[in-house]
Amino acid sequence: MDDLAQLRELSESALVKQLSSRFSKDVIYTYIGDILVACNPYRELGLYTQAMQDKYKGRVPRTAVAPHVYFVANYAYERMMQTKTDQSFVISGESGAGKTETTKHIITHVMEVCKAGKTILETNILRLNPLLEAFGNAQTVMNDNSSRFGKYINLNFDRTGSVLGAELTTYLLEKSRVTHLQDNESNFHIFYYVLEGMSEENRSQRHLKPVSQHAYVRNTSKSAHNKKRNMEQHFNQLLDMMFNFGFDATEIDALFDVISAILHIGDIAFTPAPNDGASVSSSSSPSLQHAAELTGLDEQQLQSILTTAVTTTRGEHIVRLHDPTAAADARDSIAKSLYSRCFAWLISSLNDTLACDASVSHLKACSMGVLDIFGFEQFEENSLEQLCINITNEHLQRFFNQHIFEMEVEAYKQEGIDGSEFSYPDNQDIIFLCAGKGGILSLLNEKSRFPQGSDNAFVNKCGEQLKQHRSNAFTPARSSRDLKFTVNHFAGQVTYSCEGFLEKNKDKLADSVVPTLLQSRSEFLVALYTAQRDMASGFKVQSKRRQSKQSANLATLSSFFLKSLDELMSALNRTMPHFVRCIKPNTDKKPHAFNSKAVSKQLKYAGVLETVRIRQAGYAVRMSFEEFCKHYRIIFCKAHEQPNTDAETAQRILTLAGLKNYRIGTSKVFLKYNHIDELQLAMRKH
Ligand code: ATP
Ligand code: MG
Repeated sequence: MDDLAQLRELSESALVKQLSSRFSKDVIYTYIGDILVACNPYRELGLYTQAMQDKYKGRVPRTAVAPHVYFVANYAYERMMQTKTDQSFVISGESGAGKTETTKHIITHVMEVCKAGKTILETNILRLNPLLEAFGNAQTVMNDNSSRFGKYINLNFDRTGSVLGAELTTYLLEKSRVTHLQDNESNFHIFYYVLEGMSEENRSQRHLKPVSQHAYVRNTSKSAHNKKRNMEQHFNQLLDMMFNFGFDATEIDALFDVISAILHIGDIAFTPAPNDGASVSSSSSPSLQHAAELTGLDEQQLQSILTTAVTTTRGEHIVRLHDPTAAADARDSIAKSLYSRCFAWLISSLNDTLACDASVSHLKACSMGVLDIFGFEQFEENSLEQLCINITNEHLQRFFNQHIFEMEVEAYKQEGIDGSEFSYPDNQDIIFLCAGKGGILSLLNEKSRFPQGSDNAFVNKCGEQLKQHRSNAFTPARSSRDLKFTVNHFAGQVTYSCEGFLEKNKDKLADSVVPTLLQSRSEFLVALYTAQRDMASGFKVQSKRRQSKQSANLATLSSFFLKSLDELMSALNRTMPHFVRCIKPNTDKKPHAFNSKAVSKQLKYAGVLETVRIRQAGYAVRMSFEEFCKHYRIIFCKAHEQPNTDAETAQRILTLAGLKNYRIGTSKVFLKYNHIDELQLAMRKH
């Protein structure tokens, strides 16, 4: 069965069973109503060939072809053209489930169906992903090519359906990866491309050493990163792509200088200095020298932002010396900041190239967006990043529920049945708890504004204010010294460890850092820190010179995050959404293995079971008159008799069985779950 919503009984176990049996036959796509479920096969199945693209093009009836992501892409395009309404794809699933692959298939197919000829713009749109992946993806335990940021790609079309331009928005780059690696994980791909794929000459110019000799990329585990032989190829492909995209050689060189500088910065170690401060250890002084050279700073300048913090209060500069630990922290913040600025610069350059040309922008008629964003996260230790990710998922879930519910009510309406008595499971209160006025993030911002604010004060305040919250979803830690609280999200309970929340939220470099970086001889580096559009890619403008009122309001990570989330949700609300739920059938990245328990859990996290619940609140069982009358005729007539299969007969059967609260539509009978049991009983009696 291609559409599981047609199952007579829509239950969790029935869903899993169907998905499993389809998967064993290499059928990875399944519909549940208008949701597409995609199970990652972890191998090539020949599903994305030109012949396949041809098959799913134009006016294809849904029942005439097997479920496919191409069908959904084509369908959305057709809808857009027919109704001139904006469309969106919301793709979700856990890490490694296949979201990014799905995004690529959707974009490829949309480019195929809208094709007027291979324009540079179309080619660039298709090149976008590999470029983003080089800088934003990394090898993790969950996925060898894991996206460490969220993204929304919006394509603009004119009335005839030709693509005019594209915009890219990114969310929450995981910049902590630059400086801290978990076991068996790697840094962003680009570092390895540069270290192992760049020409010998270019590497030695930048004083680069093997991976094992740079602290930020070194990982003790052997399997931590891809084999060297691919690296040259990766690097050269990346270079080609950047050139084709219109980056010039000077820019590219400057970018790789900063990437290399980050590696050298990571190698700087500190020892206690006689004056209670820290100094660069003698063994790492070459690293300081290389880092200074590549960032276009004097060694002295770089050393000073690493080992001291200057704060300015009421016009007075106060210089504080870092101890070695604080110096190492300062070093890591600078490295993270440099990387996230490079990423932001990349995104904004890509956006410049993809933007709709001013001369044609009046032709914009409709758009299609694809959202590829991290799914619900629940780890042993959960921090501010997880909170932000899970809040995003709460919003997307609500959006999903509303949509599914509306479709459900629509299905009743088509059968002439009033569905207004039903409601859907609404997580609005949890959203208020986390992101509303007086909620968790707003308390966090409040505490982040005060110099004396502490993680402890924040957690206590949450406990005081939120334990009685009407969502009933907040549980404070047992002891107030435990810097923890638990939120009961739609997909499960998550306990957040709040140590470092305030620091992360302030996301601030010491006052002297940016002014020093702005003195760099590298034009590129200066541009990184003066770019206005940094905001667009998720990083606040830290330059003092540019702190307008607006950026001051968005001065924390969470306030900026909430603003971009708000924009995303308004954008999505203006579209007709298409949902793709990606499922990871096993945790070993292996083909042919289907773990029902794990799949069940993902269906829950992805809110697919919510569809079931919405169904159950309404009429979970629906059968055509024919099916119903044939199945239960024994209640109404003798075993050998064939009754009519119409509304009247259905009504008689239902009355005879003594059922209440069912509905009869124009072609179907709508029943509650328990009705099936009652009908079985009635059959036995007759
Ligand atoms: P993350 O959240 O970590 O970014 P993701 O959901 O984006 O994860 P992908 O990177 O899209 O996951 O997929 C992980 C891997 O699974 C791919 O690199 C590929 O090997 C395999 N894969 C995913 N989808 C398919 C598919 N449709 N056919 C074949 N292999 C696939
Ligand atoms: Mg991904």
